[in-house]
Amino acid sequence: MQNVDIFTQLSTHDHEQIVFCQDQSTGLKAIIAIHNTVLGPGLGGTRIWNYTNEAEAINDVMRLSRGMTYKAAISGLNLGGAKAVIIGDANKIKTEGLMRKFGRFVENLNGKYITAEDVNTTTKDMEYVHMETSHVVGLPESMGGGGDPSPVTAYGTYMGMKAAVKFAFGSDDLSGKKVAVQGIGKVGGHLLEHLKNEGAEIYITDINEEVLKHYSTSIGAKVVKGDEIYGLDVDVFAPCALGAVLNTENINKLKCKVVAGAANNQLADENVHGNMLIEKGIAYAPDFLINAGGLINVYQEHIGYNRETAYRKAQHIYDVTLEIFKKSASEKIHTQRAAIEMAESRINTILKVRSTF
Ligand code: NAD
Repeated sequence: MQNVDIFTQLSTHDHEQIVFCQDQSTGLKAIIAIHNTVLGPGLGGTRIWNYTNEAEAINDVMRLSRGMTYKAAISGLNLGGAKAVIIGDANKIKTEGLMRKFGRFVENLNGKYITAEDVNTTTKDMEYVHMETSHVVGLPESMGGGGDPSPVTAYGTYMGMKAAVKFAFGSDDLSGKKVAVQGIGKVGGHLLEHLKNEGAEIYITDINEEVLKHYSTSIGAKVVKGDEIYGLDVDVFAPCALGAVLNTENINKLKCKVVAGAANNQLADENVHGNMLIEKGIAYAPDFLINAGGLINVYQEHIGYNRETAYRKAQHIYDVTLEIFKKSASEKIHTQRAAIEMAESRINTILKVRSTF
């Protein structure tokens, strides 16, 4: 197996803590990475993934936990960044016992880490985790939780898109604007409703034919085949399916003036492709900023759920996105960098605020 120097990895991006959890009776092998808790407890979902080796799992959990720190900080939440991964094939390993054992490890961290659902974990799994710890969010409404966060994510993404359109076109009006959405899942579907209500001309693609058929009929969206979405003559491209779609090949094809979507980690290489978009005159709304509605929703659950407040906070994504475009233009840095700097600045300010008794 590949040699992993854990302390070097921890210090590279200044992670606070990494916790390895093992239990033979349930087969649990989990890693919890806590990146930064200056602003509050580290909140981040638990992903189950069949990693090819442990180094890959460590790398993923460290990268994802750092992303959560920035997402919480830029959204003005009093939360730090953390994430957990459970190693294995979800279809084979996931049991009530495994999830509850994981919950006990979360409980042992005394609230420094708050978990939630992520790839291959569901609300039902979080119910099991909740049987062992109160440090879990993303619970169903019937249990006092906020339910599915996707509608709030979609609303925040819509707000970020409008701000990007305002920056690129001088008005945030989407009526008559051509918008291409890639991936019509839980977030993409809700986003389409906002776009339709505002009178946008909508183009969609997905690998699921049923979904395409449904939305072409119900909202009159025009269906596009696979990679054709990148080269469409549209105003806005909204990636809402996969990460790393903003690579050199795809950016070269883009004809739009705005990229604003919900998918995580859209830039294949943050600096190379962040700069490439600027050079092409494309306004890119940073993904971790405009898709933060889901985190905003679960944060509300942590402090006492109120759906209206969650939406009001998600609406604020509009103002922050505009600020990012202004910072990017005046400091001549790409928007992802501008967003990271804004998040780091808030953390550093609060660090000083809390330096005295
Ligand atoms: P989802 O699984 O419900 O939907 C994803 C959709 O993308 C599916 O319809 C799928 O068929 C489609 N898809 C997959 N591969 C594709 C491809 N190659 N081309 C076109 N379509 C493809 O997921 P979701 O919850 O809607 O999340 C979408 C994205 O937003 C993900 O990247 C997710 O990490 C991110 N995100 C979601 C939330 C949330 O609240 N759900 C919050 C933050 C970020």
